Amino acid sequence: MTQTLETGTTTQERVDAWLADFEAALAARDAERAAGLFATTSFWRDLVAFTWNLTTVENRDGVADLLRATMESTDARNFHTTEEPTEADGVVDAWIGFETAVGRARGHLRLTDEGAWTLLTTLYELKGHEEPLGEARPMGAEHGANRNRVTWAEARRAESEELGRTREPYVVVVGGGQGGIALGARLRQLGVSHVVVDRYDRPGDQWRSRYKSLCLHDPVWYDHLPYLDFPKNWPVFAPKDKIADWLEFYTKVMEVTYWSKTTCRSATFDDSTKEWTVVLDRDGEEITLHPRQLVLATGMSGKPNVPELPGQDVFRGEQHHSSQHPGPDAYKGKKVVVVGSNNSAFDICGALWEVGADVTMVQRSSTHIVKSDSLMDLGLGDLYSERAVAAGVTTQKADMIFASLPYRIMHTFQQPVYAAIKERDREFYDRLEAAGFQHDWGDDDSGLFMKYLRRGSGYYIDVGAADLVANGDVRLVQGQVVSLSETAVQLKDGTELEADLVVYATGYGSMNGWAADLISQEVADKVGKVWGLGSGTTKDPGPWEGEQRNMWKPTQQEALWFHGGNLHQSRHYSLYLALQLKARQEGIPTPVYGLQEVHHLR
Ligand SMILES: Cc1cc2nc3c(=O)[nH]c(=O)nc-3n(C[C@H](O)[C@H](O)[C@H](O)COP(=O)(O)OP(=O)(O)OC[C@H]3O[C@@H](n4cnc5c(N)ncnc54)[C@H](O)[C@@H]3O)c2cc1C
Repeated sequence: MTQTLETGTTTQERVDAWLADFEAALAARDAERAAGLFATTSFWRDLVAFTWNLTTVENRDGVADLLRATMESTDARNFHTTEEPTEADGVVDAWIGFETAVGRARGHLRLTDEGAWTLLTTLYELKGHEEPLGEARPMGAEHGANRNRVTWAEARRAESEELGRTREPYVVVVGGGQGGIALGARLRQLGVSHVVVDRYDRPGDQWRSRYKSLCLHDPVWYDHLPYLDFPKNWPVFAPKDKIADWLEFYTKVMEVTYWSKTTCRSATFDDSTKEWTVVLDRDGEEITLHPRQLVLATGMSGKPNVPELPGQDVFRGEQHHSSQHPGPDAYKGKKVVVVGSNNSAFDICGALWEVGADVTMVQRSSTHIVKSDSLMDLGLGDLYSERAVAAGVTTQKADMIFASLPYRIMHTFQQPVYAAIKERDREFYDRLEAAGFQHDWGDDDSGLFMKYLRRGSGYYIDVGAADLVANGDVRLVQGQVVSLSETAVQLKDGTELEADLVVYATGYGSMNGWAADLISQEVADKVGKVWGLGSGTTKDPGPWEGEQRNMWKPTQQEALWFHGGNLHQSRHYSLYLALQLKARQEGIPTPVYGLQEVHHLR
């Protein structure tokens, strides 16, 4: 047990004393006293436990404000540590548990001499609505003799026949990629009637339809789905068709109510009945559902940005967005121009070069590149790796450690990682820049992950294609594409690039664009931009939001939610979204603190 020399108290005693003081201040409903237990510069991140929102407040005034609004209804108590706290460099780390009036929660506390520096509080279950897990798992078999026996398969069939015909689902999730599927699994466990709809033929087709060389860029430890980890022999980077098969299998075994070949045509919310009218085309049949809640899980990498250029109509070759790129096989010996220099552009250029195409990459703005092995080792290794697992950092624990770092200071944890990567791969970056590649490390040198959280673009995780650019095998051209002729791509400086195929690897638009398509422009504008932190860096305009805009939390449009992100985010945040939906289904009061404000339309 660590002992503080000056005071003679142990770290355990220090944390216990802080938790007891905090609880006493909450019990006395004394927000100022509780806030005084925080350091002058401090951060409290709450995921649904106090705020029925995903919110971070800062400093004592922020803490007091949050508490004044929430402490009465939350009635938090029974704070305790869940394992022995540790201390390093003057900061005590403690894992904590507590309960609220309606649920059970866990979190993390970092204490300095001045008080709490960071606090994370997260709801994980609702009292009386616990998931049927472990000891509480369903019996399955019904022993005894019963003439009216209904088997599991019969019950499932009856449910699917009733749903949408004689019984309305409480939630409709539009989009059955990894996001919709993970949320569907959680809703099933929580007993929330739902249907996940997707226009593709089968779950997993989102991945099957992508270019054939694609493998996940994130490693297996980062990618588990809720409840069911990948087996221990699963590859580090799953090939796209393998992850597709896993998603299909997972959808089935987790009993997600999933309608394939179903396109959502429109959705409207009735303010008086508090119901959505969702019009679906289910394999040619029009079905109208009236759920109370609507989740758009239509993908942040789903709405292609395709530039409109003069001459696209006269160009005699083929042209498509990267999301429609079928793979390289048909392009052996062809001249291909790939517009863009981020992940998809590099992956596509690499695969085309492998089959013998003549490939040119057009770089329009600078890109951050990090080699996959360096990212795995220095960026993710302490949390998501075999090494982390051996050190007792399970994926669930890693998710919580990650969640405990407030976004406001996250870049300060990332900057040293990227400084180390820069040093380790110096020769690689020198070669790239010598080849004329414009490379950056993010506006404040915080690297890839902050770019992802802030703008969801602007980087490449290098799995080999960067070398092709560095050594000239893939030709690199800088500039802005202004038009196409019958046979070529034309740049602003007059350069002409002969092409049989043009691939627009030009990224994706904000998710509220989906709300404009399916609901209305008015609702899309009411909700505002989705994603980003308001960091004031490139493509992430301020003001500071504290959390990712509009993701997994209440929006300005009642009963409309956005879900998605990478596999880690889908896994972790689907829990908080599912709990928010479950509470509403059960009529548990959910007073929202700090509802998302709108500062940008897209
Ligand atoms: C090249 C590439 C590589 C990537 N690599 C990784 C990686 O390694 N790891 C990772 O975590 N992420 C990766 N991503 C990001 C990945 O796209 C997202 O993480 C993931 O697809 C998000 O899942 P999702 O369920 O939110 O959205 P999607 O997978 O895009 O699913 C959205 C679904 O919505 C459906 N849909 C849309 N509109 C409608 C409608 N009107 N009606 C019915 N259905 C509709 C679509 O058919 C689609 O199936 C990569 C993306 C790309 C493009």
